[in-house]
Amino acid sequence: MKYITSFLLALSVSAAALHASEKIVIGPKGGRLLETEPQKAEFFVNADRKVEISFYDADLKPVAPGAQVLAVTAEPKAGRTKVEFEKSATGYVSKAALPEGEPYRVVVQVRATPEAKPQNFRVDFNLETCGECKHPEYACTCDAK
Ligand SMILES: [Zn+2]
Repeated sequence: MKYITSFLLALSVSAAALHASEKIVIGPKGGRLLETEPQKAEFFVNADRKVEISFYDADLKPVAPGAQVLAVTAEPKAGRTKVEFEKSATGYVSKAALPEGEPYRVVVQVRATPEAKPQNFRVDFNLETCGECKHPEYACTCDAK
């Protein structure tokens, strides 16, 4: 019994940690802020359905991209597509629009440097506006998912 109790406790602790890390924060452009190190990154989809990744310091002031390496994959039902980026003034912008067929998952992998450990983020890509928080669904801050 003692074993089972500690096992359940461990389970609930890891579930709580997982939930906390998935809390969505809105970035300055209205996209989803990704808690990357050392600079924060924002995932934002513009009117052309292109992904803009912008970098910010701890005070959310825009900063020029450093040595980050991005790997973004769109995963619509039609098949996974690697999203290619080009550098912009404040970060990166995708060369092409995201594929049709949302909602689907977009996986964003950011490395602080080419040698650094990757940090992965799963974005549920959906451009519809949430009726409650008024953010696009991919950056919805409502608790109930
Ligand atoms: Zn919402």
